[in-house]
Amino acid sequence: MTLPSNANLVTDRPTFVTHLECGLTGERHEADRLHGLSAAGRPLLVRYDLPGVGAALSKAEIAARPRDLWRWRELLPVRDTANIISLGEIDTPVVTLDQIGRTAGAGPGELLVKDEGRLPTGSFKARGLVMAISMAKELGVTAIAMPTNGNAGAAAAAYAAQAGMEAIIFCPDDTPEINVREIAAQGARVYRVNGLIDDCGKLVREGCAARGWFDLSTLKEPYRIEGKKTMGLELAEQFGWALPDVIFYPTGGGTGLIGMWKAFAELQALGWIGAKLPRMVAVQAEGCAPMVRAWENGERHAARWEDAHTIAAGIRVPQAVGDFLILDAVRESNGRAMAVSDAALALAVDDAATSDGLLLCPEGGATLAAWRQARAEGWVKDGETSLLFNCATGLKYPLPDRSKTLDRHQPIDWTAI
Ligand SMILES: *Cc1c(COP(=O)(O)O)cnc(C)c1O
Repeated sequence: MTLPSNANLVTDRPTFVTHLECGLTGERHEADRLHGLSAAGRPLLVRYDLPGVGAALSKAEIAARPRDLWRWRELLPVRDTANIISLGEIDTPVVTLDQIGRTAGAGPGELLVKDEGRLPTGSFKARGLVMAISMAKELGVTAIAMPTNGNAGAAAAAYAAQAGMEAIIFCPDDTPEINVREIAAQGARVYRVNGLIDDCGKLVREGCAARGWFDLSTLKEPYRIEGKKTMGLELAEQFGWALPDVIFYPTGGGTGLIGMWKAFAELQALGWIGAKLPRMVAVQAEGCAPMVRAWENGERHAARWEDAHTIAAGIRVPQAVGDFLILDAVRESNGRAMAVSDAALALAVDDAATSDGLLLCPEGGATLAAWRQARAEGWVKDGETSLLFNCATGLKYPLPDRSKTLDRHQPIDWTAI
């Protein structure tokens, strides 16, 4: 039986959230009410009745549903189908980078990219924000505010528009221009701030206190992780209920890395995947590498990185409230944290586009640069499968003009073309 393409958006399905838990202390918080951070000031994680999920859902059922984010409904927090919002959160493809891989000695199919640039608003922020805003709607929120380096604000603006919510967005004044404009184009009020994302976060806190907006900052509400978790669920299915050997993730606030790690744990509890999990690599830029420094120093929390700078705006995050969750996942997985230079990530963007035809975003380029380094060091071995994340379409970023001009009224030297 084939289901209609919108079946996941309109079909009532059982839900299994039991409670929320502080990611640091484990303290229990009640489900079905509006939460920010935990009592300890740390991110809250959503917990499910996983035996219940296992009884209600099978791999075959998942395979039969339309291929979008909402097919994982039993592992997602939204209770009432009427609160689901959607702009078409399709499964994203896994693309090979065989030519690039070969230049580093990797065999065909060993270097892969999950291309998240195909999602609504052109970035994987759609996964987190479709969930956060559906839940905000379910819990009665009418106005949201958030700091952003660009893509999160764009996704928030789009979904808030669909949900009929006010959105007020604060971004560093050097945020990519396309992001600032698309946020406004999708009906949000957007402010450029002379500071970094955590400076914008302070303004959001003050604004929320003054105006009663709901704070949708990264990990300061519990549901963006649940949306990003679908990357891990989707990957497991795409790899035939196994997983690649290594995952390279460009890490800012770390929502995706934390979300995937949570997804793998839930799939293991369901018995849908085995014991072997990928080594998780948190990739940062040399100009903003708080996780790398903390990982190298064996610390569980990462101090703020001063004077943060990199052309990869999405990973220019000097301090992350979920730092320990990122570092725990990296350590538990026998992974590592790596920093790459802006020159190396820009070169990687160029190479992937010219060799394999895939235009990465700068943050995606950072994962390729890190893979090259890890491969050169022998940390990624022959025969191992590595998965990179391209988190946004390369079309959102300024591209160099490498065209030449022709005067059609003059003779053309065709041998020179
Ligand atoms: C937000 C963002 C990141 C970082 O993602 P986190 O899950 O917040 O660490 C990386 N790349 C791009 C393009 C982004 O927009």
